[in-house]
Amino acid sequence: MICLSTQLRSDSPSTTRALVAYRFGAEGAGPKAYLQAGLHADEMPGVLVLQHLMPLLQAAEAAGQMMGEVLVVPLANPIGLSQWAFQRPMGRQETTSLHNFNRGFPELADLVADKVEPLLGPSAAANVAVIRAAFREALAQLRAAALTEMLEMQAALLQWSCDADYVLDLHCDHEAVMHLYASPARPEDTAKLCRAVGAELALIQDISGGNAFDEAHTVPWLVLQRRFGDRFPIPAAAFSTTLEYRGQFDVDDATAAQDARNLMTFLASVGFLRDWPEAPDHADARHLPLGGSSEVFAPQGGVVTWVAKPGQVVVAGEVLAHVTDAASRVRLPVLAATDGVMFRRELWRSCLRGQGLAHIAGENVLHDGELLSD
Ligand SMILES: [Zn+2]
Repeated sequence: MICLSTQLRSDSPSTTRALVAYRFGAEGAGPKAYLQAGLHADEMPGVLVLQHLMPLLQAAEAAGQMMGEVLVVPLANPIGLSQWAFQRPMGRQETTSLHNFNRGFPELADLVADKVEPLLGPSAAANVAVIRAAFREALAQLRAAALTEMLEMQAALLQWSCDADYVLDLHCDHEAVMHLYASPARPEDTAKLCRAVGAELALIQDISGGNAFDEAHTVPWLVLQRRFGDRFPIPAAAFSTTLEYRGQFDVDDATAAQDARNLMTFLASVGFLRDWPEAPDHADARHLPLGGSSEVFAPQGGVVTWVAKPGQVVVAGEVLAHVTDAASRVRLPVLAATDGVMFRRELWRSCLRGQGLAHIAGENVLHDGELLSD
């Protein structure tokens, strides 16, 4: 194992932050996996999972079980981690700009397409190498030119991850079942990951809008395929996903230790570890289109009392919760708009009128375009 560190240029004098990564296995010795947690810096379940994963990787390395390279970034967002306001962590958006830390990653295909075109040829493997080299070059330039620490941090994370075969970005929701977001490009890997980590739901979309970290790795290959695929073979070279490790308060060592073992099982199942004793054996997840998810909204401001739990299968018109206006004493139901699984709900027990309270994942596509929340 080696520890890597890279300094970020600060926006204010006399302060500096660094990103830290741990590399297990040998660089270039086989496939590369990249795992990070805490990009939304108020989400601790995934951060704890990686703390439990690293000793397992270290032991596997010592036992000669590693067949590739695994790069772990245990805290992907030192800027967000330092942001507290109103005595609460504010790690989702950058406080100066309100920019969501997991949106607006660089569009790598746009940066490299013209440069790689004359270098592409009949070998898919050679094309992957050419494109990844171009990603690295573009990101070095982008990082050098970044105008803010946050933009530099986004480029620096991508510098570590852009040439990985597997990219796992660990997040959590407010109150939720284990679920993940993935592109439709590599369904076998998605199914294997769900069965390894015990995800109940996979939300599938090729382009969700907003260019979150996971899609910063999958969309470029799709875009380059669309542009050059009739002339040159370009595979979906990166499997990338956002893993939602349940809810904000689902942070405990026993759960995280099992989650870390499950990640080892996934890594073993896709060729990073030999002689790992377990195979993915959780039940198959529901694989549903992200555009089939619908949000339910508060009919008035007040106190939220839940009837439905995360993971519950619901039908349109079913009462999910009530909202009570304590002044008027009016109690209104919150109804499911569609059939599906209520996979997440808000943490807060007070709400304003019109506020989003929960999401239901259904089978029928209802929306397109910008599908991610702010
Ligand atoms: Zn998140």
